[in-house]
Amino acid sequence: TKLSEMMKEKQLLSFELFPPKTDKGMENLPGTIEKLCEFKPEYISCTYGAGGGNVGRNREVCQEIIKAGTIPVTHFTVIKNTKEGIKEQLQTYLDEGVDHMLALRGDIPRGETTTCGDFNYATDLVAFVRKEFGDKFEIAVAGSPEGHIACRSLESDIAVLKQKQDNGADYIMTQLCWDMEQFKYWLDAIDKAGVTMPIDVGIMPILDQAATINMALSRNGCVMPRELSRLISKYWIFPNPFDKEPFDDALEQKKADFKKAGIEYTIKQIDEYRALGINGIHLYALNKWKDVAEIINASGMRTMI
Ligand code: FAD
Repeated sequence: TKLSEMMKEKQLLSFELFPPKTDKGMENLPGTIEKLCEFKPEYISCTYGAGGGNVGRNREVCQEIIKAGTIPVTHFTVIKNTKEGIKEQLQTYLDEGVDHMLALRGDIPRGETTTCGDFNYATDLVAFVRKEFGDKFEIAVAGSPEGHIACRSLESDIAVLKQKQDNGADYIMTQLCWDMEQFKYWLDAIDKAGVTMPIDVGIMPILDQAATINMALSRNGCVMPRELSRLISKYWIFPNPFDKEPFDDALEQKKADFKKAGIEYTIKQIDEYRALGINGIHLYALNKWKDVAEIINASGMRTMI
């Protein structure tokens, strides 16, 4: 099944999971996947540990996704990977029935200046997969509406995206972006640059303050719209170092209120993206299903059966 073809017909819904770090997490995952599958997502993706850590678990998660009856898309990075290693691993995925991938460079390991592997960029990986495996894989690639954190300029980053397409990529999964004006600008700019791949928009549900701030600021340098910063200020839960009392009595209530407001914010964001006619919504499910179900039900995209 080519997801990129399906995207031309309708707006897809997909979820993203990560390989659990503990056995307990792994035990709970099949139940979560089953619940998520009630929304009939067109696919579920699974992240790939930087440097290939926890790859065994990634493969297990992909198998659980197959068992639950949907398409697994494995993320894959070139960090600390050799050509031979990549070829071998990808063949294992194929042998196990996983033929959809998100081809990534991965984050440069701390303290290093290169990938410590045979390839430097995702463009190289896309070309290599096409050369070695032909059309056996459907290949998604990352796109950053605000420009990748380390790019020279938005224009050069868009040229990289076009190169991914020319090297054989099938569709784009985007980095999270809360800035809708920037997103529209990017849509227009990539169109002008000749990028015609369908666009699956990555959305991180806003459920937890620390995770939201961490995702936006510690790694990706994302713009946070005033409405979202206001929400964070309104329900600020971190102990203020100048406070005499280190913890707020109403901490749990504030966390719950923030989550409620965050879920509403996420639903509104999904509406705005869908109204732009993008090709899919890719929701980071964070290995949970209840909050995700609330968001998807309320967004009207799908209803749980
Ligand atoms: P690239 O496209 O290679 O770009 C990296 C940087 O190099 C950019 O600044 C780009 O402009 C520049 N560049 C690219 N090619 C060239 C060139 N030929 N010459 C000069 N400059 C160039 N990471 C994980 O470790 N595991 C995951 O599972 C994971 N999942 C992700 C899912 C999504 C949807 C996204 C958006 C990101 C994910 N990441 C994941 C993070 C990703 O690995 C990082 O953002 C990484 O820093 C860049 O990966 P990339 O594929 O975008 O790199």
